Amino acid sequence: MTPDPLNRLVAELAKLPGIGEKTAQRLAFHILRAPPEYARDLSKAVLEVVEKVRLCSRCFALTEADLCPLCLDPRRDESALCVVEGIADQMAIEKTREFKGRYHVLHGVLSPLDGVGPDQLRLKELLTRLEDGRVEEVIVATNPDIEGEATALYLTRLLKPMGLKVSRIAQGLPMGGDLEFADPATLARALSGRREL
Ligand SMILES: [Zn+2]
Repeated sequence: MTPDPLNRLVAELAKLPGIGEKTAQRLAFHILRAPPEYARDLSKAVLEVVEKVRLCSRCFALTEADLCPLCLDPRRDESALCVVEGIADQMAIEKTREFKGRYHVLHGVLSPLDGVGPDQLRLKELLTRLEDGRVEEVIVATNPDIEGEATALYLTRLLKPMGLKVSRIAQGLPMGGDLEFADPATLARALSGRREL
């Protein structure tokens, strides 16, 4: 018979994406066998992440304060704004060190079949950010799949009439590929080879 606390841990771990029952069990045994400090550090880190990490009120990336370090950094070029689907994409682009501007995280892409329309994304906030006229170029870095392309098209139609330069990252990325998993060199090429829409 498996002790209840172990069952509970396995059940919680199995709720994580990509973790099946078997892997959950293996992880639980690992935690059980490790020195007790590991379990304490792990549970502390899990709690801290939900208690301390939130979304930047300007770009909607992750932050511990109201504004994220990137929004506060005066060395970042405020004339260029890179629009991404999710936080993982923003992190992947930032890792390339190719982009010196600022970001805006949409937290999704347009997907009418899944009920995701413009109101479900951080689009209103994007438009508000563009009001002061400091941004000159919006680089749309959504994934090269159907929803990502549809979102790019939607943004182009919305932003071009506002007199903004709208560009799309180059197709160095495989169609249907996931930006967050692209290697930094490919992603850097896609950024520098962006074309105006
Ligand atoms: Zn920010």
